[in-house]
Amino acid sequence: MSVIEEAPSTVAVDVVEEPKSVDAHMWDVDNGLLNNSLPEPSLHKISQESAIAGWNQIRQDLLKVVIETSCIPLAPQLCCLCTTEATYRCLSCSPSDFFCLECFCKIHEK
Ligand SMILES: [Zn+2]
Ligand SMILES: [Zn+2]
Repeated sequence: MSVIEEAPSTVAVDVVEEPKSVDAHMWDVDNGLLNNSLPEPSLHKISQESAIAGWNQIRQDLLKVVIETSCIPLAPQLCCLCTTEATYRCLSCSPSDFFCLECFCKIHEK
């Protein structure tokens, strides 16, 4: 036997009908504004092309840096900590610093 509480029948039902026609109208206006705010196709194309040109320049610079930092130079490098000929370097620590085996081990002991 259980007692089921009857839901109060006097709950105020406050349904506000959505003004659908107004919503649809607003939506159209929004879209219109969005379309109008876009730049002219020709200007857009030009700015895109200049951006690509700028990126190509950056990419060439980056490539140069990558080649410079990842190639073993032909000239013998000296260890930056002592004066022994360097044969190692750590790309994570400092790509531009060369170390001999002894110093390389030393800085990575820590
Ligand atoms: Zn050294
Ligand atoms: Zn390191």
